[in-house]
Amino acid sequence: MLNNLIKSRRERSLSTSSNKILADRLWIKILIGMALGVLTGTLLSPEGLALIPSQSAYALGEWIKIPGVIFLSLIQMVIVPLVVCSIILGIAESGSTENIKKLGLRLVPYFLFTTSIAISIGIFFVQLIKPGLSFDPSLIEATLSNAPAVPAQNFSDLTVPQRIGNLIPTNPARAELDRNMLQIVVASIIIGLALLSVGKTGKAFHDLCLSGQTLSMKVISWAMVIAPYAVFGLLCNITIQIGAKSLVGVGLYMSTVLLALATMMGVYLIIVRFLGKHSPSSFLAGIREAQLIAFSTSSSAATMPISIQCAEEKLHVDERVSRFTIPLGATINMDGTALYQAIAALFLCQVFHIDLSYGEIGLLLITTVGASIGTPATPGVGIVVLATILVGIGVPAEGIALIIGVDRILDMCRTTINVTGDLAASTVMQRFYK
Ligand code: ASP
Repeated sequence: MLNNLIKSRRERSLSTSSNKILADRLWIKILIGMALGVLTGTLLSPEGLALIPSQSAYALGEWIKIPGVIFLSLIQMVIVPLVVCSIILGIAESGSTENIKKLGLRLVPYFLFTTSIAISIGIFFVQLIKPGLSFDPSLIEATLSNAPAVPAQNFSDLTVPQRIGNLIPTNPARAELDRNMLQIVVASIIIGLALLSVGKTGKAFHDLCLSGQTLSMKVISWAMVIAPYAVFGLLCNITIQIGAKSLVGVGLYMSTVLLALATMMGVYLIIVRFLGKHSPSSFLAGIREAQLIAFSTSSSAATMPISIQCAEEKLHVDERVSRFTIPLGATINMDGTALYQAIAALFLCQVFHIDLSYGEIGLLLITTVGASIGTPATPGVGIVVLATILVGIGVPAEGIALIIGVDRILDMCRTTINVTGDLAASTVMQRFYK
């Protein structure tokens, strides 16, 4: 009885905040913010219309992006408690360990399946178009001699058994401090299962998670109020920073990635239609806020709360499914990133004339699945993890310098696909869950 009361109170309070967020055509405001951001950025950018001196443009960009920084900080502030509470409650309220086992046993193979499809699409297009073979060799020398250091990343030195052992955090507080989402998700699943099996004894902790989740969603709803301004600021600043120069020589590579990502979007629509039994157009209409936020922030983690709301409010996914599937998906299911990493690796092989056998390409596929699972859901990390893959297939990691200039644009697009993949998964799991 009390449980029902708490549940209905929670449903009421969550749906009030999400209704407020989603009802007022937020996506149109975000879209206008995006368009104005790119336009203003082009007017100010030294490589655009350069209406003001370049130093002032860069300084102004920093000011204009302040709403974006506040937006992201507010979301990041509550993302760990939100993920922890959502997963624990999602499991604890699933009714039985049997239900969770059923969901988990379908979800993980499903994620591996879609990631493998994404990588295969990437490999297909990069082998078909061969963008690396038409890359201007004079640009290689010029770019590599000015190459920025490849950002350091800390898990390439771990062996596979060590990485598997590392999944369970021996110190959950450290996992939270380090924002190691994979460890946080694993710890939350274990605690959720424990809560499910202790019955009434766990009630106080259950209520604590309920409060944590509701408070986090409240903060997110405040952040969403400034979303259109945030998007304007972030895109304006990026347009000022990137400039057209970085596009020189890599246009064909970019087109290959974009074409492959668009194909993956088509695959999702087929999956949603036939496995999720949803009409593709209503699916796209239901997830547009999440896609626009993903595109503007380049962060699946920051988009997670709005993805959960879209899944529940627009796609009518049961909260026990969405609050388990989406946080887990945002952490381990990155189809856009995997597809991009496969294309980037093979593009650089073509540039450096490194021939891979079919066996090596198969190995690349497996490595990329693993790498995309370990890639944190934050901006720009896909390219950092790419360095590990490159070392594995004998491509100089400095080659990343050739593609780093356009990475932000591709990051925006691959994050949109990552988020779409999680939402598509929630519709499929919803059907199986029934
Ligand atoms: N930005 C991507 C995400 O958050 C990860 C990546 O860099 O590919 O999903």
